[in-house]
Amino acid sequence: MYHQSEFGNLETYLLEKKYIKNNSCEQTLDVHIFTGTVEFKRHRFKSVSLFLINAFDEKTLEIMSKIFVLLCITIALGTTINFLDNETSEWFYILGIMASLVSIIISLCIQNVLEYYQDTFCRECGNKLAYEEIGEPIMKETSNLGDYTLTVTRHWKCRYCGNVDTREGPENIFTEKGKMLPVIHLKNIECKKCSLPGAVVEFKKPDVKEIGNKRITRRYYKCTLCGHEDISEDEETINRSAYACGS
Ligand SMILES: [Zn+2]
Ligand SMILES: [Zn+2]
Repeated sequence: MYHQSEFGNLETYLLEKKYIKNNSCEQTLDVHIFTGTVEFKRHRFKSVSLFLINAFDEKTLEIMSKIFVLLCITIALGTTINFLDNETSEWFYILGIMASLVSIIISLCIQNVLEYYQDTFCRECGNKLAYEEIGEPIMKETSNLGDYTLTVTRHWKCRYCGNVDTREGPENIFTEKGKMLPVIHLKNIECKKCSLPGAVVEFKKPDVKEIGNKRITRRYYKCTLCGHEDISEDEETINRSAYACGS
């Protein structure tokens, strides 16, 4: 499940450039720090992005995105106001709802294009679509008793001036502290060291993260008899249709 490793420190790891496929975990008291490699960033709507970035600058794209949000609100308001008027045909509502939905979808697409623009724009030489991702992106997760944070560090290299930029951020990955299991659920868990059932407790709230359509819950168990600690990870698929708007 996890390995105690000397590569836990991100800076040391980057300096020594040691290659690890598995995640590593460093623990001090109740703080766990997980580090591991992740994939290169994938941008959606790549061909549309390339076309729009070549045609427009950042400011224009931002304005376009805002115009479509305003358009969505205006159409939605117009449709709602006319809802009170009984003489309006059903087609008007259907068209109104469709048009406001299309506007918000276009605005979200432009937001994606903007992200691609910012990721690949070189501030050093001012070229668009200049940065390419290099090296190994590292995901670092810090979990303590009441808090769970996650950051991804990526390295970008400009193909025109050779400038290397290292950026660290949460990348819109949703994280939260989950709820501990009810005691009844713990009764059946057996300690992996002394094999006694009924002695295992959760010693801190679980870490929950959502990546793509996966919700991953990491739980921390401890045996009250022998003191053995164990970490387990569960993965479930999120039904996106249950949410109003997927990202
Ligand atoms: Zn450059
Ligand atoms: Zn035990």
